[in-house]
Amino acid sequence: MKIERLTLRELRMKLVAPFETSFGVSDERRILLAEVAADGVTGWGEVVAGTNPYYSPETVDTAWHIIRDFVWPVLKGAQFAAAADIEPLLRRVRGHNMAKGGVEAALWDAEARQKGVSLAALLNQPGQPRAEIATGVSIGIKESPAKLVEAVEREVAAGYQRIKVKIKPGKDVMMLAAIRERFPKIRLMADANSAYTLDDAAHLRELDRFYLMMIEQPLGWDDIFSHAKLQKQIQTDICLDECIFTEEQARAAVEIGACRIINIKLGRVGGFSVARRIQTFCQQNNVPVWCGGMLESGIGRAHNIALSTLPNFV
Ligand code: MG
Repeated sequence: MKIERLTLRELRMKLVAPFETSFGVSDERRILLAEVAADGVTGWGEVVAGTNPYYSPETVDTAWHIIRDFVWPVLKGAQFAAAADIEPLLRRVRGHNMAKGGVEAALWDAEARQKGVSLAALLNQPGQPRAEIATGVSIGIKESPAKLVEAVEREVAAGYQRIKVKIKPGKDVMMLAAIRERFPKIRLMADANSAYTLDDAAHLRELDRFYLMMIEQPLGWDDIFSHAKLQKQIQTDICLDECIFTEEQARAAVEIGACRIINIKLGRVGGFSVARRIQTFCQQNNVPVWCGGMLESGIGRAHNIALSTLPNFV
């Protein structure tokens, strides 16, 4: 394949409802889409960076800069046999995984279109993609336990098979207790987005009684080591999200016992090539994975669904 053109487009989408996490409230999403033309076909990808550098160091504006000034010069006119060959070329640009990942995903999409197969089929080769995936939902922080239970009721009724709730200090034990009282049996998990420190270990141990599927990223966004210390002190499985940017970080986290589950986000790890390598490593080490969302448009969500058809996304 030869890359002929790369077009970036930005649009704004109003969220159906404001979404609150431990680092703030969002009610609008700036969506950055990458369209690549290669060999007469067009592929699409989505850059999942946010408006601010609170989830990760990247933003929509840094992504514009990195793609225009550093990613495009590497790719312009490049010849490659498959989208899988692109990731090594992009390693020259350190970090900026969401910028690189949006473009990389567009090339996978282009390759799938060129071959006339679905993206899921291409990703699973030589295997076959599963026909269906289980889907969960993420619920933001609510002002009261009653409001949260109301939101959970709505999502359970809509058919979601896993409920994730955002938590932070002061909005954790009481909130989860209210959900468990109303729904003793649902698959429930909590995401702290780095709102706690290791000093909170005894407090976080109180969450063990809610038999959560996992607690996601309780400690520092780049602190794999402290998560290993915490995992020894709580029963609930830790899932790492923010900490995992590379295959090497996934390997370190698993080997030192910092987590028992990994949330593989396509943009955070820089695209499908690295996502597949992390998935393979995790599978070989009996660490289940899942794919978290970033409030994407339909394009990013379609890519998340394709990713979730890989083995070990359970
Ligand atoms: Mg998370």
